[in-house]
Amino acid sequence: MDFRFTPEEEAFRKEVGEFLDRELTPGACEKFNSYNWEPETREFLRRLGERGWLCPSWPPEYGGIGASHMQRYILTGELVYRGGPYGGIGTAMAGPVIIMFGSDEQKSEYLPRIARAEIEFALGYTEPQAGSDLAALEIRAVEDGDYYIMNGQKVFNTCCHYADYHWLGARTGIDPNVPKHRGISLFIVDMKSPGITIRPLYVMGGWRTNEVFYDNVRVPKKNLVGQLNRGFYHIAVALDLERSGPATGSQRHFEELADYVKQIPRLAKDPRVRQKLAELATEVEVAHLLAHRVAWMTSQEIVPNYEASALKLFHSELNQRLANAGMQILGLYGQLQEGSKWAPLDGMAEWRYRDSVVYTIFAGTSEVQRNIIALRGLGMPRG
Ligand SMILES: Cc1cc2nc3c(=O)[nH]c(=O)nc-3n(C[C@H](O)[C@H](O)[C@H](O)COP(=O)(O)OP(=O)(O)OC[C@H]3O[C@@H](n4cnc5c(N)ncnc54)[C@H](O)[C@@H]3O)c2cc1C
Repeated sequence: MDFRFTPEEEAFRKEVGEFLDRELTPGACEKFNSYNWEPETREFLRRLGERGWLCPSWPPEYGGIGASHMQRYILTGELVYRGGPYGGIGTAMAGPVIIMFGSDEQKSEYLPRIARAEIEFALGYTEPQAGSDLAALEIRAVEDGDYYIMNGQKVFNTCCHYADYHWLGARTGIDPNVPKHRGISLFIVDMKSPGITIRPLYVMGGWRTNEVFYDNVRVPKKNLVGQLNRGFYHIAVALDLERSGPATGSQRHFEELADYVKQIPRLAKDPRVRQKLAELATEVEVAHLLAHRVAWMTSQEIVPNYEASALKLFHSELNQRLANAGMQILGLYGQLQEGSKWAPLDGMAEWRYRDSVVYTIFAGTSEVQRNIIALRGLGMPRG
């Protein structure tokens, strides 16, 4: 078994690394941490798009270069390792689902603009009463001629304050004899539509998510993605894609901590610190292998399902273990924030500790991932 990249993939990784060393500015990275497409971030993403690297595995007519999924994985991995913007909802979730289930009109309208970083999407699934139980969503889409009229509320919809389109799950079927997940459809909604109100919610890590209110919003019927009342299944595919990705972010996080410890003999010689770092080094390696498996499946055109859940579960919890270890190893200094001259790692340990709290909630909680693994991976009956 050979876990290495092929010589061609390794050459591509080198080319990507050289490009990023040259082009990825600190401004484009830092601002992405606030989950906002600031001008510098957009400009960098546009430069990636010009090379066909924002959606490399898409066909050229949609703005890609027909690259392999492994090349896309390598590119994303290098970006994440450097803390860069690695595309977003359009490139990683909405775009691939439009390719699979969208109309020809939707493909030509949205895909090239996603690949050029001209537009971004925001995920519109969760509602106050429907998070883990997504099938309970209630925002209503009622037919009216060539339109659907939408009313209801979403919550925790990140990116809505700068995205151009809402990737919206809405209720189109209310037959009590049909299971509730079979009454959901998926829509693309222009965020500038009259009747949409967005209210900010800030997370502990400092970045913004939103509440979104729909008041008689008119959405053209042509904006329905895939089949009517099959939206839950299309969203499930988008969620599997959301849970896939490289583990290079935690590798970078680990390396920063280990490199810092090596500079401080008191810490580097402490057996408890050494044991903890050795344990985490092993876990980072496990995360890589889980991520490689998911990337390989995608390269074989298999949508990863419980495998993506296993990756998301392990990786999000590993990020929290890394953040906890950072706080324990750095002691009281670890609590100092960015900007303090005494803060080790320029306050990253403190920020990561706060930021990592939500990792085990968004894109499906750890409990939900465990349920998926038990049900679809181990074939256990529903509880
Ligand atoms: C920072 C952040 C960003 C987000 N961004 C987006 C976004 O862009 N778009 C979007 O649509 N949503 C987004 N979400 C919402 C996210 O997907 C939901 O918060 C998540 O699915 C959990 O739903 P909930 O908050 O309603 O919690 P609940 O579903 O009410 O869960 C509460 C607790 O019960 C547990 N639980 C629930 N059901 C089960 C079960 N069957 N078995 C075992 N335990 C269970 C959960 O694990 C959790 O611990 C975001 C959330 C956060 C925190």
